[in-house]
Amino acid sequence: MISSKPLDIPCSLQERKVLEKIALAAHDLGVPAYLIGGFVRDKLLGRRTKDMDVVCVGDGIALAHQVAAALGDNVPVAFFKTYGTAQVKWHEFEIEFVGARKESYRRESRNPEVVAGTLQDDQNRRDFTINALAVSLRDADYGTLIDPFEGLADLDLKMIRTPLEPAQTFSDDPLRMMRAIRFASQLQFTIADNAFKAIQENAERIRIITQERITDEFNKIMLSPKPSVGLDLLYKAGLLKIIFPQMIDMVGVEMYEGKGHKDNFYHTLQVVDNISVHTHDLWLRWAALLHDIGKPATKKFEPGHGWTFHGHDAVGGKMVTRIFTKFKLPLHDKMKLVRKLVELHLRPISLTKENITDSAIRRLLFDAGDDIESLMLLCEADITSKNKSKVKRYLENFELVRARLKEVEESDRIRNWQPPVTGEMIMETFALKPGRIVGDLKNAIREAILDGEIANTYEAAYAFMLEKAKALELTPVK
Ligand code: ATP
Ligand code: MG
Repeated sequence: MISSKPLDIPCSLQERKVLEKIALAAHDLGVPAYLIGGFVRDKLLGRRTKDMDVVCVGDGIALAHQVAAALGDNVPVAFFKTYGTAQVKWHEFEIEFVGARKESYRRESRNPEVVAGTLQDDQNRRDFTINALAVSLRDADYGTLIDPFEGLADLDLKMIRTPLEPAQTFSDDPLRMMRAIRFASQLQFTIADNAFKAIQENAERIRIITQERITDEFNKIMLSPKPSVGLDLLYKAGLLKIIFPQMIDMVGVEMYEGKGHKDNFYHTLQVVDNISVHTHDLWLRWAALLHDIGKPATKKFEPGHGWTFHGHDAVGGKMVTRIFTKFKLPLHDKMKLVRKLVELHLRPISLTKENITDSAIRRLLFDAGDDIESLMLLCEADITSKNKSKVKRYLENFELVRARLKEVEESDRIRNWQPPVTGEMIMETFALKPGRIVGDLKNAIREAILDGEIANTYEAAYAFMLEKAKALELTPVK
């Protein structure tokens, strides 16, 4: 029986059961089948994965149906006749089936001409040696690793190499350039010299790839343990200047009268890495990436003062919207969050100065709302000085800001501020229609609360409203 046979990759009992079903189904149909690609790679690396890719020398869709039937009643199969691929979802597993194929490419597209082929043909079309590893699900050699390109050795060496000639691989499907860099960043592997050179030479070809695909890989880089690895590779490969020119504008140090500023590109990469130690949230990482994006546009040398970047927070905020649109990232809540963090990223720093009033603290709580903690994370990540005692001092200052924020929030409850006297209440009190006067009164109440002139309570706000209304010669009707 298959289940007693050992596999060359470590698998759980549940995974073995699934593989056994696939093997039996393939046996019944008389088609040789193999597990291939990401699952094999990740299992050998000890990474978690539930996405299985199965290639068979025959009809992948027919095999998918057979497997689905073997796994249980009503197990759904999604299939795409034109591509000859099918997907079976069962519990936490997503199993992709495809018939082994041979591909040939035309220059203007990454969609190849496809003809049926052997396992070897199919392994040849894989992007990297570590992604071409296959495990046999045939009776004769069940569980055996089939490794024509020394992918196992490359896993050991932590090396990203292409099975065939690298220039051909990247020119055929330029998305592979992004994938190479993504895997380097995700797995902390090195891209082989000849492969990296081929990426540099083919960088321009990235233009035939859709933005969605590019963004997908870019986000995987952003989610990797140290995103700076991938971001720096994108830069050195010449890809970043094509897919993200605003980042390139941050590269380098300009000197004037013997004074330089810091390299905002490498500073930014450090900030992204810093925040990634504390959060896996993609959007906080994006906020770190974009926090200084407004600097190149606002850079000035002011005699007697040095380099300044006045207004780079507001300019950066506007750029967030444009960049999110270009990258086809979510334009509602996610973009708003990132934009807000970019716009506010200097505020906590200004609160580390002496003699800060409660009013300034209340205003930050009001503006940041529930994102105050994320903002503090960003500010702490923004400290990139190499001087340890400086870093310590800055962090301590932020601790003090946190303490003040907590204290003021506990007494004044500004964080999710709702006006204690609403527009409706104002309209009812003075029999007013919606309009400027109502807005002015609302704003006056809010400002008085934020300034600490009155308490954040209904009674105080109501009394204040009556007072203000008198000056406008308004009389309460009730
Ligand atoms: P992940 O699932 O983490 O994105 P993966 O390697 O599994 O990584 P998939 O997109 O799931 O990537 O693809 C599965 C397999 O298909 C890969 O391991 C690789 O063998 C092959 N593959 C995917 N994309 C390409 C490509 N652009 N060129 C060549 N082979 C590819
Ligand atoms: Mg996968």
